[in-house]
Amino acid sequence: MLHEISPRVFKPEYSQRKVEHDDVVLIFEGDEVLIVEKEGRNIFPTYIDVSRHIENFVRYLFSIDDIAFFLGFLKVKNLPEEFNWLPVRLFREMDPMWMGFAGITGNHLSNWYEAHRFCGRCSRVMNHSEKERALVCPECGIIEYPKISPAIMVAVTNGENILVTRYKGGSYKRYSLVAGFVEIGETLEDAARREVYEETGIKIKNLEYFKSQPWAFSGSILSGFFAEREGDNEIVIDDVEIGYAAWIHYSEIPGNELFDKSGFSLSSALIQEFYRRLTE
Ligand SMILES: [Zn+2]
Repeated sequence: MLHEISPRVFKPEYSQRKVEHDDVVLIFEGDEVLIVEKEGRNIFPTYIDVSRHIENFVRYLFSIDDIAFFLGFLKVKNLPEEFNWLPVRLFREMDPMWMGFAGITGNHLSNWYEAHRFCGRCSRVMNHSEKERALVCPECGIIEYPKISPAIMVAVTNGENILVTRYKGGSYKRYSLVAGFVEIGETLEDAARREVYEETGIKIKNLEYFKSQPWAFSGSILSGFFAEREGDNEIVIDDVEIGYAAWIHYSEIPGNELFDKSGFSLSSALIQEFYRRLTE
């Protein structure tokens, strides 16, 4: 999956370290990130590439191995021609994959900083905590931590069949699995049962935890489950959110373009595991 960057190691520990010349600087504008062309390749700029063009505000985000990533803010609009903007959705296809993971993780943090410049309670400008990744209001003292929304994804099986869905609207046209955000007061298991029933009218049993995936594209952490259909109830599509839901036999997975086989996402990992269990 996108976050599985071994043998490289993601190090999210907070630090007050200062930027150095060779550190990577991620600069976002809307849904795009700044890249620089070097020797025919598009890569993230280092501090030395962009130091003339950015504000002094550069904040440490995380490291991958010994490569430190910082967040920067542009002060000029007209950049030299070797600079370009890349849509963040293309992080899914970035080569090497660990760079795409770094980019989207930086984008998640950048969006959080951007949306929390002011206190939501008293509207003062927030300060950065000196001891942890948090923003603190100098007036009312409220502490804001990075926002991660828990969500669930469920591969519902019925013998040799798997329940696939497709969302209405949006650009993603391939099969997905039932997924949704966890409500306040709900367990992950409750959310899995509720979402499957809401989206497809199917009741489930024997929930089995599989794996989780940080999914910064939606600011979430996804928990993946397997579950079995309970009883013999038929699919009733929630036609507000879901455009399509169906049982697909495992033998139809190979060669079917509607299944994402990249392994980048939790849905593709769940589908691959479903197929593996029936064929090995
Ligand atoms: Zn406040």
